Amino acid sequence: ERARLARLRHTPAVTLDGERVELHANIELPVDAVAAVEAGATGVGLFRSEFLFMNRGGELPGEEEQFLAYRAAVEAMRGMPVTIRTVDVGADKPLDRMSASELRHEHVLNPAMGLRAIRWSLAEPSMFRQQLRAIYRASAFGKVRLLIPMVAHLSEIRQILESVKKVQQQLTDAGRAFTKVELGVMIEIPAAAVMLPLLLQHVDFVSIGTNDLIQYTLAIDRADEAVAHLYDPWHPAVLHLLAQSIAQSRAAGKSVSVCGEMAGDPAFTDILLAMGLRSFSMHPSQIPSVKQRILRADAARLARLMPDLLVSEDPQRDAELAFSLQKGVT
Ligand code: PEP
Ligand code: MG
Repeated sequence: ERARLARLRHTPAVTLDGERVELHANIELPVDAVAAVEAGATGVGLFRSEFLFMNRGGELPGEEEQFLAYRAAVEAMRGMPVTIRTVDVGADKPLDRMSASELRHEHVLNPAMGLRAIRWSLAEPSMFRQQLRAIYRASAFGKVRLLIPMVAHLSEIRQILESVKKVQQQLTDAGRAFTKVELGVMIEIPAAAVMLPLLLQHVDFVSIGTNDLIQYTLAIDRADEAVAHLYDPWHPAVLHLLAQSIAQSRAAGKSVSVCGEMAGDPAFTDILLAMGLRSFSMHPSQIPSVKQRILRADAARLARLMPDLLVSEDPQRDAELAFSLQKGVT
């Protein structure tokens, strides 16, 4: 089994009909990049930078500490892309010591809909620029991509681009090296999925965060046990938003990836391939089993099943039936 997994690690993820698929890793700390390389990841699709900010008492990491962490991840990936997401704090990922503006919002009723992720970063401009400077400085050591969580408004992208411009000028003035960094946004709020063609005109890539996209589409708190049975990735509305987002990104010539739990669950590999997805990001431990599904898949045949599945009353049942039939293993 170990030998088989080791062989699999060096096998590129290519479907039976020759479609190449990127399998990237989700990491929380730079040391996780080691496991990512060992699992055969071809990049980091999601570095959840908020883990540098959590569980550390009062002190938040400054530019230098962040830079060292990002550089460590970039160097561990040896030239493969590292997608660093700016802090996604709030809601399920609170800071120990909230900043001044966060404290003003201490008693919010719906933290999932509150001042979190990019909203928090834009409310803390000096903290945001500090993080951007650390990310840009790391770009001198490998291929860095910048990913923004929970975007819902075009005005947020405009503000981000302004901060980026300012930070680039600051680094240039300080004689700090940096290279081109692609800008991407996460699609995890239905509004962003619905207006994706507009967003795509301003960004280089998108990454679909299905964990939150499902939560906000179905109005199901992803951490609430009482409604966990209604948290359904197979819900037709979720599939519809996913299929549409992947198709629109591809049509715009922009790279699109899924980095939520669906990407790392082999039960969804076939349907994501059917939608045209060619980039998955997941916990490193999931890479071998997702790769095995890809190696056995015929992407063109899967794609032909998609129109029927999008109008199905029970997509999960119909997908399982259709996918097993097309493999001839009923
Ligand atoms: C997501 O929402 O799918 C995602 C990848 O981000 P997180 O799970 O960190 O909220
Ligand atoms: Mg999310």
